[in-house]
Amino acid sequence: MTCCELLDFIDDYLDGGLSPEVREVFEKHMGKCRPCKAYLDTYMQTVSASRGCCEDAVHHDSTCDSLPAELVRAILAACGCKKSQQGGT
Ligand SMILES: [Zn+2]
Repeated sequence: MTCCELLDFIDDYLDGGLSPEVREVFEKHMGKCRPCKAYLDTYMQTVSASRGCCEDAVHHDSTCDSLPAELVRAILAACGCKKSQQGGT
């Protein structure tokens, strides 16, 4: 699993919506990939903060403020993610 794929799974991970298989892979990756772990930490802080400030406005997976784009970019760059490029491998 690549870092980009993991980042897509964070919502499900926090919701407990991942299958045991995927969850294990996710947690393993978080254990050894510092940029992704930093991202997860920041994400959780953002989510809990936004839950506190606008509970009524949030339906399910949206947060008040999206994560800083710069942080996402830094992580993807650090992990060699090719998500922003078109086409496959
Ligand atoms: Zn990673």
